[in-house]
Amino acid sequence: MISDKTVQLILDTARVQDVVEEYVNLRKRGANLLGLCPFHNEKTPSFTVSPAKNIYKCFGCGKGGNPVQFLMEHDSFSFPEALRFLAQKYNIEIEETQQSDEYLQEKQRKESLYLVNQFAEDYFKNELIHTDEGKSVGMSYFKDRGYLLDTIEKFGLGYCSSNPDKLTKAATAKGYTLESLKELRLTNNYDKDFFRDRVMFTIHNLSGKPIAFAGRTLKTDKKIAKYVNSPESELYVKSRVLYGVYHSKKAIRKLDECLLVEGYTDVISLHQSGFENVVASSGTSLTEDQVRLIKRFTQNLKILYDGDAAGMKAADRGLNIALEQDMNVKVVSLPIGEDPDSQVRKLGSAGFSEFLDKEASDFILFKTKLLLDSTANDPIAKSNGISNIISTIALIPDAMKRAVYIKECAQLLQIDEGVFIDSTNAALKKNVQGKWTERKNQERRAANQAARAPEAEQNEFVQKPQGNQTKASRGKDEFKEKDIVRILVNAGHMPFSKEEPDISIGEFVLANISDVLDKFDNPKYEKFIKTYKGELDAGKQPGLHFFINHKDGEIRDLAIDASSSPFEYSHNWKDKHDITLRTQPNPEENFMEDALQSVKYFKYSKINKKIEDNKKEIASLKSEDINRLQHCLKLHQKLMAIRNELGKQLKIVLLD
Ligand SMILES: [Zn+2]
Repeated sequence: MISDKTVQLILDTARVQDVVEEYVNLRKRGANLLGLCPFHNEKTPSFTVSPAKNIYKCFGCGKGGNPVQFLMEHDSFSFPEALRFLAQKYNIEIEETQQSDEYLQEKQRKESLYLVNQFAEDYFKNELIHTDEGKSVGMSYFKDRGYLLDTIEKFGLGYCSSNPDKLTKAATAKGYTLESLKELRLTNNYDKDFFRDRVMFTIHNLSGKPIAFAGRTLKTDKKIAKYVNSPESELYVKSRVLYGVYHSKKAIRKLDECLLVEGYTDVISLHQSGFENVVASSGTSLTEDQVRLIKRFTQNLKILYDGDAAGMKAADRGLNIALEQDMNVKVVSLPIGEDPDSQVRKLGSAGFSEFLDKEASDFILFKTKLLLDSTANDPIAKSNGISNIISTIALIPDAMKRAVYIKECAQLLQIDEGVFIDSTNAALKKNVQGKWTERKNQERRAANQAARAPEAEQNEFVQKPQGNQTKASRGKDEFKEKDIVRILVNAGHMPFSKEEPDISIGEFVLANISDVLDKFDNPKYEKFIKTYKGELDAGKQPGLHFFINHKDGEIRDLAIDASSSPFEYSHNWKDKHDITLRTQPNPEENFMEDALQSVKYFKYSKINKKIEDNKKEIASLKSEDINRLQHCLKLHQKLMAIRNELGKQLKIVLLD
C-alpha cells in the first residue's frame, strides 16, 4: 500500500487544472476555469475548475472532486491507480507501507492473470499456424472466409485441437499455475482444457490486453454449441465489453461514427475491407455500459442487423438504451439471409460503403414504416406498435429532437399531431416518475446504510437517528442544515471575530448547536456535522482540504458541493427558505455574520422541533409518571426561553 505520507504528498502536489487540462479544453472565467463537461453531454460549458480550491465541479451533472477523483471518474482508475498515475506525473517517489507485500501480491496476481491469457492467445495462434491440424482445419476455415494472415495476426485468431489437455499441460509446463488457469476457465474442474476442437477468437479490453476467448466449432452437428465463450472472470465482465473496441477506437473517433454488428467475424471482415470503425456486442443486446463505452469516442451509432423481424426485435431493447443516452442512432437492415460479413464480401468495399449510405435510415422512422407494413390489417397490433414508438420517442432527452420525430411519425401513421404530443407527454411523465422513484429508492437505501454504519464519532451529544430520521427526508430544514455545512466547509477554520481570535467559526457553530444535533432532517448533513465535531473534540481544526480528501465519498461530495456551489445567495433565498442574509454583496468575507445568522435560524427551527416532541411526550404521559412530567415541564420552560430569545434576535413574531 502507498503510505499515508505519500498519499498526502500527492494530494498536496497534484494540481487539478494540470490533470483536467489533458482531457478538457478550459478557458478562464474570473478566478475559475470553465469547459465542456467530460462526464455528461452539454453544449454550453458548466464544468468549472477552481485552481484555488484545487477542485472541479460540474453544475450540469453534479460531478465534482479533487484531481484523484477526476482520474477515477474519467479513466475508471482505482484509488491507488490514480495515485500512482499522479506520482509519475509529478515525479513523486512512492513510499510503500508494510502491507506493500500484500498489495504487490494482489497486483501481481491480476497481472499474472493477463499473462496467462496472453500465453493462451499465443498458444492458440501457434496451434493455428504451426501444427498440421491447425493448418488443415483452422487455417482453411479462415482462408475460406478470405482472412489475410495480417488480419489473423492482428485479431489474435487461433485454433485448439481436440486433445483434451494440451493447453493445460503446455501452460503448467511454462510455470503458470493450475489455479489461475481455472480462474480464467481455460482449464475446467477436471483439469482438462475448456476449449477443444474449435477456431479461436481473442477478446481484448480497451488497452489491447486479452481478457477472454470465444471458440467456434467447425462441426455441423446441431447438438454442439456453435460458440463457446470464456465465463466471466475478474478480467472479463461481458456487459462492459465490446468486441473489437481496441482495434477500432481510433477509427471510431476519427470518423465520428461507430458501426455496431453482432458477430466476431463481422468485425473482422469489415476491418479487412477497410471499415475499421466497427464493434460487436457479441450476442448480448446492447447494455448501458457498452453504450457509454462507445460514447467515449462518438455520439453516432449505426446498427447493422438482420433484416427479419427477429433481428429487429433483438435490436430494439439495446436501441432504446442508446437513444436514452442521447446517441444518434441509425439502422441498416441487411437483406434476408445476409450478415455484414457476407454482405461486404459480396459487394466489396466500395459497394458496401454505398450500401451503408443508401440503406441507413433513422431508427424511429424505420420502426414506424415497419409497423405500417406489418400491421396493415390489424388495428390492435397497430395500436400496440404506436404505443411502443411513442415510448421510444419519449426516451430521447433532447426536446427539439423529440418534436421533429413526433411530427414525422404522426404524419406517417396518419394520427393527429396533437394526440401524438399528448401521448408522448404522458410517456415522458411516466419516465420521469420512474426515474424519480428510482432515485428516491437509491437515496433511501443509501441513508439506511449510513444509519447502520458504525459511527466512530458517536458521543453523548449525538444520539443515533431514530424512526423516520434515518430516511433521506426532504424537510424544509434541509436548507438550514446545508447552510451550516456550507459555513463549516468554507469558514470553519477562520477566527470567529477580531475580538476572539482563538475561537474558530467552526467551534462557535458547534458549541451552539450541539444540543440539537439529534434533530437533523438529512442524515448526510448529520454525518458531516458529527465528523466535524469529532475532529474538534480530538483537538483538530478540520479545513476544506480535510473534507475534500476525506475517505467517505458522501462527506467529500458535500464538501465539494458546499465549497463550489455558485454562491447560493439569491434574491429569493429569503422567501424560499426564510433565511435572511445581511451580507449579499460579498459573502465570503462575512462568514462571521452569516454563521451567527444561520446558526440562529437553524437552532430556532430545531428548538421548535424539540418543543413539539416534548409536547407530544407530555400528552402521552400517564398520571403516575409524575417525575417524568415534572422533567418535561421544566424542559418545556427552558426550551421556550431559548426559543423566545432566538425569536427576539431574529425579529420573529411569536404567537404563543
Ligand atoms: Zn457534467
